Amino acid sequence: MIQATEWNPYYYYPKQCEKQGEEFFSRYQVIFEIGCPDEKMKGLKETNLRTCRFCGKKKPYVTFHKVAHVIPEMLGNRFLVYDQECDDCNGIFGRYENDLANYLGISRTIQNVHGKKIPVYKSKFDEIVARFEKDSTEGDYLSIKRSEVGKDNFEFDKEKNQMYITYTKNPYVPLKVFKALMRTALAIMPQHELKNYKFALEFLRTSKHDDKFMGFGIVHTYTLPLLTFRFEKPSAFLFRKKNPKDPLFSHLFVICFMNYEFQLFIPFHESDIEHCIRGAIETPWMPPILGRQDPTEIGEIIVASRDFNSLDKKIDDVDKLIIPNLFKDYETMPFINKETDEIYEKKFEPEKVIGMNLQFIEVKEDNNKS
Ligand SMILES: [Zn+2]
Repeated sequence: MIQATEWNPYYYYPKQCEKQGEEFFSRYQVIFEIGCPDEKMKGLKETNLRTCRFCGKKKPYVTFHKVAHVIPEMLGNRFLVYDQECDDCNGIFGRYENDLANYLGISRTIQNVHGKKIPVYKSKFDEIVARFEKDSTEGDYLSIKRSEVGKDNFEFDKEKNQMYITYTKNPYVPLKVFKALMRTALAIMPQHELKNYKFALEFLRTSKHDDKFMGFGIVHTYTLPLLTFRFEKPSAFLFRKKNPKDPLFSHLFVICFMNYEFQLFIPFHESDIEHCIRGAIETPWMPPILGRQDPTEIGEIIVASRDFNSLDKKIDDVDKLIIPNLFKDYETMPFINKETDEIYEKKFEPEKVIGMNLQFIEVKEDNNKS
């Protein structure tokens, strides 16, 4: 692991990303880091003193009744709130978050993400239903059921000792998923930079420019192994290019939550426009950051750049989830005779499985940060 000393000595990134890290940190520097507090925040402005940073309006033209979260509540942020988002803008952004939730699929339920409550997950056509169940005697567990046995939505991989759950996500509009992330980036943007993002703010709040400005909605994602790694609470970072003359996007936004790290370059900074006209802007991505040193515990990190430049509702996004370390033995499994409470062994027949209750196996949380 390489220590990200130039930025924050508590962070590390994998050795194989050495070159990528050198390249990135030579061109970008962090300007803002934010994590989620454990309790309610104090010191927010009175509502009649507030100005919305997205639409620029104050009372009485807009209201500020709703609690506005800096990082979406649905990603596990309970208390990081702010006083710069009016109810109108909050309503618009809330709709983008529905798309983000559908894009994330079953993962929030599986990872026990506490926003308001842990969501019950139902995939398209209710093929897969996952929910958290409380059990004070045996311990809480996650129940995952499928609507039909014999389908290939549950697969058991004996050799790798893992299982795959395949399901179709509920429909979402890719550009709205991008806007949900872009909203969080602009929520933490320093105030003095907002004047350079006037167009971006309008692009974000309205659909006026959706069809004209495609091509910027790229999200670079790192997926860490499910159930073996999880960021304890969401956090977000903003980087700025070191040399203003570099033909790069001015700001890169990084958000870490659950077992994901998402990165996006924020489009439409006024001084970036000349670079856009000259040609495609380079996009150096930051290596995956981790707050711990032992890489052997982490396992494989899946890297992907995803394209969210579409207004067409995505109705067929199939997700294949990997659940690791399920069984010790696939050949025979202990079964309980419900009448006699007797335990007996029986051959395991995966095709007959209708559902499972998973009891968590310790998830190592990444709370080793400053
Ligand atoms: Zn507003």
